[in-house]
Amino acid sequence: MGICSICKKEKPFLSKVLKVCLDCIREKPKDTLPFIKKAHQEARERYNLPVFFAESQKRHKM
Ligand SMILES: [Zn+2]
Repeated sequence: MGICSICKKEKPFLSKVLKVCLDCIREKPKDTLPFIKKAHQEARERYNLPVFFAESQKRHKM
């Protein structure tokens, strides 16, 4: 559960990392892209992991 950063709705399937819901990722890819890029950057900095590892951690691909 969480509040989507874009539509501000409470969603059951909200990525903790991205903070955007699947509906927005699907329907507003241009709006969600900065969040996705930022999340990837933060994840890499925090865990010092390469990008492809972060990608594999994601359940939902675009
Ligand atoms: Zn949303």
